[in-house]
Amino acid sequence: MNGSYTAPQEHGILVVFSGPSGAGKGTILKRYFEDDPPAVLSVSATTRAPRPGEVDGVHYHFLSREEFEQLIAEDGVLEYNIYNGNYYGSPRGPIEEELSKGHDVILEIETNGAGHIRRMFPSALSIFVVPPSFEELKKRLIGRGTETPEEIAARLEKGRSEIEMALDYDYIVVNDEVETAARRLGEIIRSARWSKKFNQSFIQEVLNNA
Ligand code: 5GP
Repeated sequence: MNGSYTAPQEHGILVVFSGPSGAGKGTILKRYFEDDPPAVLSVSATTRAPRPGEVDGVHYHFLSREEFEQLIAEDGVLEYNIYNGNYYGSPRGPIEEELSKGHDVILEIETNGAGHIRRMFPSALSIFVVPPSFEELKKRLIGRGTETPEEIAARLEKGRSEIEMALDYDYIVVNDEVETAARRLGEIIRSARWSKKFNQSFIQEVLNNA
């Protein structure tokens, strides 16, 4: 029997991954997926305009306001929120399908949406990414050069209030360096598989056969 036991949950883990704009969520996830974990990244729907290089259906499903509101009306999103004047939401169908196949699903979403998920799915694992300092966050946002100064100011303001929400999450990942941060993310998800949240039915089974 040595080591033949694998974590028993039939469903994948729903992982909520948040952090202020510019904290490096996208870069960490890209590095995490390079190691081919049994996980998928949920492709959100949004009404914001694509940034240069963003591809419809890969980075986001870019929808019109009408299309997004239709999706909400059809109960097609697990959660949604308005952020900087645009809708963002997690399409329900693909998430439920992947979880039922035993794949972990990572939702890269902001703090309000994360709160909805935590309330609806108490077994979800929530992880918050922070930059090593607020000054560093400012530097990264300006360096990215994809937003106007007004948008940067709005994102920094939002970033501050998001960091205040960090302590509502299960885990904190400090992004001082991408490789290290991605490794921390992997360690958190792997150890979550052994958490009591995901092993209740197994313990029950052991007791039923005692
Ligand atoms: P960005 O415009 O920089 O791609 O995303 C802005 C914010 O929206 C980020 O904090 C991102 O995590 C969040 N976001 C992306 N997709 C979703 C979603 O499906 N639902 C929610 N609630 N937030 C999202």
